[in-house]
Amino acid sequence: MEMDTITAISTPMGEGAIGIVRISGEEALTIADRLYRGKMQLKEADSHTINYGHILDPDSGLVVEEVMVSVLKKPKTYTKENMVEINCHGGLTSVNRVLQLILNQGARLAEPGEFTKRAFLNGRIDLSQAEAVMDLIQAKTDRAMNVAMKQVEGKLSKRIQILRQTLLETVANVEVNIDYPEYDADEMTLELLKEKSAQVQNEIGRLLRTAEQGKILRDGLATVIIGRPNVGKSSLLNSLVHENKAIVTDVPGTTRDVIEEYVNIRGIPLKLLDTAGIRDTEDVVERLGVQRSRQLMIDAELILFVVDYNEELTNADVELFNLVKDQDTIVIVNKRDLDEKINMDEVKALAGEHPILTTSLVMDEGVDELEEAIRDLFFQGDLDSGDLSYVSNARHIALLHQADQAITEALTAVDDGMPVDMVQIDITKAWELLGEVIGDSVHESLIDQLFAQFCLGK
Ligand code: GDP
Ligand code: ZN
Repeated sequence: MEMDTITAISTPMGEGAIGIVRISGEEALTIADRLYRGKMQLKEADSHTINYGHILDPDSGLVVEEVMVSVLKKPKTYTKENMVEINCHGGLTSVNRVLQLILNQGARLAEPGEFTKRAFLNGRIDLSQAEAVMDLIQAKTDRAMNVAMKQVEGKLSKRIQILRQTLLETVANVEVNIDYPEYDADEMTLELLKEKSAQVQNEIGRLLRTAEQGKILRDGLATVIIGRPNVGKSSLLNSLVHENKAIVTDVPGTTRDVIEEYVNIRGIPLKLLDTAGIRDTEDVVERLGVQRSRQLMIDAELILFVVDYNEELTNADVELFNLVKDQDTIVIVNKRDLDEKINMDEVKALAGEHPILTTSLVMDEGVDELEEAIRDLFFQGDLDSGDLSYVSNARHIALLHQADQAITEALTAVDDGMPVDMVQIDITKAWELLGEVIGDSVHESLIDQLFAQFCLGK
């Protein structure tokens, strides 16, 4: 399949001193050579070398940019095509000028994700790996990055392939049953089918359990800090933000006056909701109204609920305890450096299952324990097990659920004594669904849609 030559700026717009313009396709070297002046033509250069030179405007003959050019000859490249990466250091305008010159030479501006799409279409990576590239670009913590990296390396794909192989063997087994009904191994085959299917289902279940954690790593854990005025909410926010570098600030939420901020808590990106409310007006309820604040709390995946060690519990506190009853909440009893006026037994009774921590935010005490508690609440240690083959992608999760369902139906069919070819249909369906995770039976339009989500130049 011969594809045209594409180009794009593959570094973030306006950021960093270096900009990279990427070209991929049969003509990549030829086009670059028409603009490049260096020791030798890029065509003559060895593959995987970096070459110093200049980009000239062929019309005027004037030097546009001093460059380092990576020459990557097919097939051992990201797209499996000839690739050229021109490293410019003159900022956005010169990067854009270089891009324009390349376009003038007949390359086409790449669509978002088109480089990765080519890597997929040329068989260099499978679909789950391609999607992981997208996750990598958006990863917010190192740990989230690791998960995506593992996926790029094909860890998930390998697992899925093993599962599909097992199902295929199972189907083959059933096939024997259909083709040789006189062969008296009925019981044995069904036993084997049940065993193998259950095995696959277990593994799917395990993958799905990690999916929730994967989602948190990818999107951040939606967190709100609540509590009466003056208990220490702003202080808590500040110590979380200051001890852990805030990763993204001012990400607009769904509603315009809710501000999100990311902090990295032991590898878990905490998406702190409505920090503006805590910072500016001190009273989220006053600013957003009771209804909206309730919604904010309901939407939260983690609630940090602060009460004052130095004061007796008030009705407002009790009301908040009731509101957070069914949600993941950590109760923080702050100002432990002062006298104990709160009734801790009462706090324990009201908190129920929620963990309780005492802190002194002015003395910087208890914050480490809080961070540990946050991690334990969601990862119970298994985050450190090194097994990071998380499924973090909504499409994968949906497919795994469906495959799981299909296997359940197969097992039910066996138990109900249904004809064996009915069982086979369900198992085959599960096999196909798993295939979709790695892009084995995906329609073209789905592929276009997936790659369109990529950033330009990737
Ligand atoms: P918010 O209204 O809930 O946001 O509370 P702030 O964080 O603004 O804190 C209210 C007051 O309590 C400020 O004067 C803080 O310095 C003080 N404060 C916060 N945490 C502690 C603590 O652990 N011990 C003491 N003694 N004072 C604290
Ligand atoms: Zn405050």
